[in-house]
Amino acid sequence: MSLIDRILLGPGPCNPYPEATAALAAPLLGHLDPEFLRVLDETCDRLRTVWGTTNRRTLPLSGTGSIGMEAAFANAVHPGRTTAVVAVNGLFGQRMVDVATRYGATVIPVEHTWGQPVDTDKILDAHPDPDIVAAVHAETSTGVRSDIAALGRAVHDRNPDALLIADCVTSLAGIEVAADEWGIDIGYAGTQKCIGVAPGLAPFTVSERAWRHRNPTPPTWYLDLGLIGDYVSGNATGGRTYHHTAPTAMIASLHAGLGRVLEEGLDAVFERHRAAGERLQTGLQELGLELFAAENHRLPELTTVKVPDGVDSAKVRHRLLTEYDIEIGAGAGAYAQSVWRIGLMGHNARQERAELVLAALARLL
Ligand code: PLP
Repeated sequence: MSLIDRILLGPGPCNPYPEATAALAAPLLGHLDPEFLRVLDETCDRLRTVWGTTNRRTLPLSGTGSIGMEAAFANAVHPGRTTAVVAVNGLFGQRMVDVATRYGATVIPVEHTWGQPVDTDKILDAHPDPDIVAAVHAETSTGVRSDIAALGRAVHDRNPDALLIADCVTSLAGIEVAADEWGIDIGYAGTQKCIGVAPGLAPFTVSERAWRHRNPTPPTWYLDLGLIGDYVSGNATGGRTYHHTAPTAMIASLHAGLGRVLEEGLDAVFERHRAAGERLQTGLQELGLELFAAENHRLPELTTVKVPDGVDSAKVRHRLLTEYDIEIGAGAGAYAQSVWRIGLMGHNARQERAELVLAALARLL
């Protein structure tokens, strides 16, 4: 067995909550075992709390965050008939454009400068009446938080039937997400970020409005929400029918991770992320470094910082990894060499983790 025990301070995965890791070692249950179905139901209830929703269709999809993105567009797009305005202020907005296009939407990308939040007015100006508006809440590529509440209000004030798709992969269980209040029609996340569980599941929620407007025969069998729903929540007669073999160990782990989060309390968890991020961002500036994301829009859970002139970005990351067992991330896209990404997510959203990476960087720079 490897003795390497990394401190995962990149853009994800993070070190899971101990409860989530312990649950992976519990005896395995079958996916139709009544005890497992109880755990699954409770997991969906816990997800509803974390999402801030009463949506009946709130569930963990099998796969990483990107499967949530695929499922969102696969089920919401009617090929050839759907217009989608997609905010692009980083890599994951770009990925949404790609995915929505592949599922047959007419996509209008709205480009923003990387490092800036989504501009609601620009989104509204892009098209008078789109069927879908999509945006990333927490852009992991840039460390920026966008105002999804304002976007939801604007989109639904103009057309109560339009759908808002929000990528909450790096926000859920780290900063506030209020799906119902903000008007999120389809939201998806990933377990390996602030939820503090290993990668492998995509927490997902669908409003009644999105359900009414969905494509009943999406061009994917695996991600057909109607079929998955018959297993997760039961069919018309209440039975649970096999769709695919649910990853029971991962769902047990998510159940435990969410249990830990809710036991601490969502507000306390948000405050822990806020305080850790603030300490890191202040400390980096005290070291003379410059932050990348626009001020007042910085995510506490994912900090982007500019690599100082003359410093070899990859070499510093390599030394952090091999000498301190600390993983941080390179920048994304055009910023691969010029930005570092440092995550303080889930179990790592603690001041001592911030102090640790600051001390290591101070030695290496
Ligand atoms: N969306 C955002 C904002 C992300 O940060 C990520 C992953 O980092 C994804 C989507 C894709 O998730 P995954 O890599 O788990 O498939």
